[in-house]
Amino acid sequence: MRERKTPAPTPAAPHCATCARHEASAAQATEERDYSRATDERVLLARHRHSAHGGGR
Ligand SMILES: [Zn+2]
Repeated sequence: MRERKTPAPTPAAPHCATCARHEASAAQATEERDYSRATDERVLLARHRHSAHGGGR
């Protein structure tokens, strides 16, 4: 799995592998009722989006 670094800040990264991974993990954790893990994944996702994609506006 390769993570793509975007040179310019973008509001959304539809093909970002890291975003997809965190979203999938959060969804799976929610399905398994592992809410603390789901929360962790969402925090990681938000943090990743902010640092990698310049989001958090
Ligand atoms: Zn991303």
